[in-house]
This record gives sequence, structure tokens and C-alpha cells, in this order.
Amino acid sequence: MTSVGDRIDAYCLKCKMVLAHVVLFKVNGQVNRVQCKTCGAEHKYRPPAGRETKTPRLASPRKVAASKKPLADGKKVADLAIRWGEKSRTLSADAPVRNYSMKEIYRVGEVIHHPTFGVGFVEKIASDKSFYALFCDSVKLLGMNVG
Ligand SMILES: [Zn+2]
Repeated sequence: MTSVGDRIDAYCLKCKMVLAHVVLFKVNGQVNRVQCKTCGAEHKYRPPAGRETKTPRLASPRKVAASKKPLADGKKVADLAIRWGEKSRTLSADAPVRNYSMKEIYRVGEVIHHPTFGVGFVEKIASDKSFYALFCDSVKLLGMNVG
């Protein structure tokens, strides 16, 4: 039995956790008032019931859905890499590789070398000022015939 002056575990509202308290007095054999040993606050005794009420949360379905997205992006990049690799293999050794300059004009099938993206293949003319080029991991819209 717990007596007045004994140490007892109770929930402290000030510290917001179960801490050691001292029993101040009892009513009808039940601990009624305690004092927190940590902050010194006196308050009504609350049994440390936190552990029983807490249930482990199930993994949220949103997390599972989110983890699928990088996979899809990764596949897209892989597809580009395969296409780029095929074009690189079929490229003849003496095929001209033009250094990319946005002032020049390019045609579908031409091979360019971009200072940032590397070797690319002109895939589609977007307008008289821009075209799409396939690089090893991305398709870029590049400007041409500018300036
Ligand atoms: Zn406290």
C-alpha cells in the first residue's frame, strides 16, 4: 500500500510526462494529492495510464503512394538512357557532331554537343527558334537561330 510521503509515479500536467511524485494525502485509501519531485507542483493524483492507451499507429497509405513516384521517374530516365544509348551506338564514327550554339539552325537527326548536357540528338523541331534534343538522361528544349 502506498502511504503519505511515499514515492509514486503520476502524470504531471506541468512537465507533461509521467514522473516521480510524493503522496501528500489520501482519501478513502486512495491517493488524492501528490507533489511532483521534478517541478514541485502539487496537484490531484493521475495514474500513469499513458502506456496502456497508446497504440502503435498503422503506416499511412499516403506514404506508400508517395514512394511509387521516384520509381516512375527512374523508369522514364532509364527509357531516355536506352534511347540515347541506341542512337549513340548507331552513330557512325565520322558523323559530324556540331558544337551547340543557339545562333545556328539545326535539323532533325543532327548530333550536337552541348557544353552542359554533352552529346545530344536533335529529335524534333519545336519552332523556327527552338528544338528538342535527346541527351543521355533528359530531353531539353533548346533555342536556335537566335541573335
Ligand atoms: Zn512536474
